[in-house]
Amino acid sequence: MVQIEKDITFNGISPKLLMEATHKAAENFQVRAFFEAKEEILGAGKYSEEEFYQILDAMVDAETERKLVLEELKGKELLFLEEIVKIIDNFPPENVIRDIIYLKEQGYIEEEIEIKIKKVIKKVKGEEKEIEEKEFFYRYQVKDIPDDFIEHFFEPVSIVFDSEVCCQCGWCSSICPVNALTVTADTLEIDDETCMKCGLCYSVCPRSFSIEQAGKSINKRDNSLKFSEKINGYINTYSASTTKDDIKKVRQDGGIVTSLLEYLLKNKLVDAIVAVQHSEEKWKPEPVIVDNLKDLYKTGGTKYANASTLAIIDKAKKYDNIAVVGTPCMMNAIEKGNLFPSGVPFFKNIKYKIGLFCMESFPYEGVLGLIKEQFNQDFNKVTKMDISGGEFIIYLDTGEDLKVPLKDVKSYARNNCHYCEDLTADYADISIGSIGSGSGWSSVITRNKKGEEIFKGAIKTGFIESKSLKAVKPGQPLLERIAGIKRKNCKPIKLEKE
Ligand SMILES: Cc1cc2nc3c(=O)[nH]c(=O)nc-3n(C[C@H](O)[C@H](O)[C@H](O)COP(=O)(O)OP(=O)(O)OC[C@H]3O[C@@H](n4cnc5c(N)ncnc54)[C@H](O)[C@@H]3O)c2cc1C
Ligand code: SF4
Ligand code: SF4
Ligand code: SF4
Repeated sequence: MVQIEKDITFNGISPKLLMEATHKAAENFQVRAFFEAKEEILGAGKYSEEEFYQILDAMVDAETERKLVLEELKGKELLFLEEIVKIIDNFPPENVIRDIIYLKEQGYIEEEIEIKIKKVIKKVKGEEKEIEEKEFFYRYQVKDIPDDFIEHFFEPVSIVFDSEVCCQCGWCSSICPVNALTVTADTLEIDDETCMKCGLCYSVCPRSFSIEQAGKSINKRDNSLKFSEKINGYINTYSASTTKDDIKKVRQDGGIVTSLLEYLLKNKLVDAIVAVQHSEEKWKPEPVIVDNLKDLYKTGGTKYANASTLAIIDKAKKYDNIAVVGTPCMMNAIEKGNLFPSGVPFFKNIKYKIGLFCMESFPYEGVLGLIKEQFNQDFNKVTKMDISGGEFIIYLDTGEDLKVPLKDVKSYARNNCHYCEDLTADYADISIGSIGSGSGWSSVITRNKKGEEIFKGAIKTGFIESKSLKAVKPGQPLLERIAGIKRKNCKPIKLEKE
């Protein structure tokens, strides 16, 4: 997705309007909570005083921008996002789009969804059939706001965890200014005494409110991108494999993730990488920050248990440029952090987002359970796990491989993955997975110029060989079909507010 303008400029706005909007912004509960907790925030040691003021400035600017957008929209009829950005030309269209989504969450704007049924011809088991498909149209309008209106208060994200929809990405705990949150792969704890109710965690959480409409709308505006409802915006799709023998020994599929990371590190495009490796408990992934090639190779291969990778992002603050590898939910979280709020220091050093395709992940206990119950094997003897061709496969240190139908292991998957509609990491710079490509190869989606540049760079350096995904079978049609199934089966998120 395009980069959001981080430093908001208010050129062309009358000083009177700007003063009024800034005054209202300073009244916002998030701004006030953050400002009033200065002492506690500095005491927690995550942000320096300079950083504290940078965040505060960014919060006030973002809120001021929203207040100005709100003022311009008052009294207007229901409008599509594309129509709104034509009316409001003081700010970049991407900013206006994200502002509408945030204003809706703050309670100022209502969203109307119109569903239209369209008939399409599709091939079902080789036969052409007419099928009805739903099309959704979203329009927005400022509500009638009474004088005593109080904008919606953003709860701390324990509400997300208690509603059993948390994907355990860990993003909230990195961002919390007073270290009130602790997230692991299966727990989220909040220290209510320390929490100063600033709502920052809620703003960036991928499961609090959706950025799907903003994301689609922003992508559709970018003429350099192709757009698919199923795999979202992209520049190109490829099937690729590493040429490096060292990487072939540790890779899951084409070894493209590790090859790209090596390319980034060797060419000093990043100083460090945030990824996962096996922890002391085998098959239990442990998030790590890696700044050398030797440790990079330890990260190769898929661990099907989930990890809270983003919980360590704040620890990578000392590096100027980093790349983050993660599942689609993590890419969504980082993108949301990019949209709201701006100004937090460790967003700025995330230069590359490398997303993995993901149908579901498993709790660590679930992985151990399925190895024992479905395969009757000791997990210490398992050298690799894979999902391919509708089967869950384990490879043993004896050289043997065992398979069970994927449907037999689905019940071990995490419940919170059922609320996830993204298979192909819509919000990454480059997305990588196996569906569509043959054994030893990866399917690759470059989603923006950055993603395309590093992929082409790694090919030029000789790290990767590649062909178009359109030239391989089952290729892109299968990828789009499975991505569509995931979107269709996704359960809607309902937070259980008190
Ligand atoms: C939980 C999970 C489910 C997946 N499901 C699918 C699927 O349904 N369909 C599909 O096509 N592809 C899926 N993938 C992606 C696929 O397994 C490969 O990761 C991808 O094809 C890249 O292969 P590679 O050889 O290029 O990666 P490699 O070069 O082997 O590098 C793998 C990278 O994955 C990271 N990683 C490994 N485990 C995790 C984890 N648990 N959480 C976060 N990062 C991790 C490592 O840090 C490493 O950087 C899944 C990946 C994960 C982690
Ligand atoms: S940010 Fe991630 S870990 Fe935190 S509540 Fe939201 S989904 Fe859960
Ligand atoms: S837990 Fe959330 S609301 Fe509470 S202080 Fe941390 S970021 Fe703010
Ligand atoms: S299915 Fe979604 S929520 Fe579950 S691990 Fe994959 S990306 Fe995250």
